[in-house]
Amino acid sequence: MQILVTDGLTPLAVEALSREHEVTAMELSPTELLERISSFHALIVRSRTKVTKEVILRGKQLRVIGRSGVGVDNIDVTAATAQRVVVVYAPTGSTVSVAELAIGHMLSLSRMIPQADRSVRAGKWEKGRFVGHELQGKTLGLIGSGRIGAEVARRAQAFGMRVIAFDPYLKPEDASAREIRLSTLDAVLATSDFISVHAALTEETRGMIDASAFFAMKETACLINCARGEIVNEEDLSEALRSRRIRGAALDVYQEEPPTHSPLLDLENVIFTPHIGASTEEAQERTSQLVAQEVLLALSGKKPNHAVNPEVLG
Ligand code: NAD
Repeated sequence: MQILVTDGLTPLAVEALSREHEVTAMELSPTELLERISSFHALIVRSRTKVTKEVILRGKQLRVIGRSGVGVDNIDVTAATAQRVVVVYAPTGSTVSVAELAIGHMLSLSRMIPQADRSVRAGKWEKGRFVGHELQGKTLGLIGSGRIGAEVARRAQAFGMRVIAFDPYLKPEDASAREIRLSTLDAVLATSDFISVHAALTEETRGMIDASAFFAMKETACLINCARGEIVNEEDLSEALRSRRIRGAALDVYQEEPPTHSPLLDLENVIFTPHIGASTEEAQERTSQLVAQEVLLALSGKKPNHAVNPEVLG
């Protein structure tokens, strides 16, 4: 069968696909994609290519759309489902990379590493200014503890931290197997030294870390968000940091990306990274290979492990 790869996959993943099918790998403009899609049975994209309803309707032979990564917001899943095209993705490929970035942010906050770097570059030697804190003995509060939250917890425990979590959908037995104490949101906010957001973005979690949440936190607390920007109200965060309601924040994701107009950019007690949670060679390789396997399963009529719309497999 014919597979079209538009945003790049690693050579090993392309090789795996090519062993069984014909692969065309090329970047296409939206118009070129519409012109060429009709002859392909599978389409694999990352976030660049928008798989619109029109693309899906023109793709008369399409059986599967693969998203090399986590979010499928660039794919019209409703249109795919209506045309009985299965959409698969690779949710586990970047788990460890995101968890490691969250831990990196926690260390950067506790020891002010980016600020200290800037100070030395400016020719200063401010040892007194950079007296930080240890992670050992502190409490990490997770907001959402799924795949990434669990990996963050393991690493934090290795630093000697106590881990608590608010996650209404996490089974108590899974939490206790990971030595995570499940708590209410209020208790997590009020008792944590570091609060790290790892929830999915849903209507429930959108804007859930707002002024009232910052008010409930300790004055020494730091917030880390490597999940989705929309979960944290950035205006309220900016106010909480400006007024020293909380001590600091580290962000990988933003309400608007890039956060060109964010009031946070002027603040010294925030650490920024440009949505690089999944940006490691290991995560890219794992994600590419995982989506390739999922597409191969779907093309061979078998059930993929990570289908967004498994109902079309009937
Ligand atoms: P996951 O689905 O395994 O875990 C999400 C967790 O959120 C689940 O345990 C779920 O029960 C919990 N949750 C749902 N509603 C909640 C609520 N109201 N309150 C608290 N918790 C709630 O997902 P994951 O793979 O661990 O990803 C976690 C987050 O990280 C997602 O938002 C994802 O989009 C984001 N992510 C970011 C990057 C990056 O580059 N920074 C990369 C991958 C994933």
